[in-house]
This record gives sequence, structure tokens and C-alpha cells, in this order.
Amino acid sequence: MAYNGDVEYIPDENGIAEKVKCPLVDDWIEDIDCMENQEVIESAIPAKYKRKPNWKDICKKCPFRDY
Ligand code: SF4
Repeated sequence: MAYNGDVEYIPDENGIAEKVKCPLVDDWIEDIDCMENQEVIESAIPAKYKRKPNWKDICKKCPFRDY
């Protein structure tokens, strides 16, 4: 287990995050889901990631932004 800032992640053999404990859902997500959530099309982001009122800000400030 490893941390990037406050966010826990599971690195692959190259140290790249394979799974991230996403602060939007407080649960493990795949790197691909994280990428998709960073896309500009807001309507494409699944509702479970938008439950927290400040979800945009959380995602923007997340250390896994653009990893
Ligand atoms: S960048 Fe956004 S979607 Fe990815 S782990 Fe961080 S908060 Fe979650």
C-alpha cells in the first residue's frame, strides 16, 4: 500500500497506481475509471462520483489528477 498525499493507492510493478482509493467515493477504483472521471464531459461521469457537494473541487485537488 502506498500514499500520494492523503490518497491511498495500490501500485503496479512499476509503481504506477493500479487502483486508487478515490476520495469522491471513499472506495477503490480502477485507474481507467479515474481517467474517465477527469474527462471534461460532466454528464459522462457516473452519479456515484458526484454525491459529495464539492466533488468537482475534490477531484480537481486530488493528487491523482493527471497521474
Ligand atoms: S482524480 Fe478524481 S476520480 Fe481520480 S481518484 Fe482523484 S478524486 Fe477520484
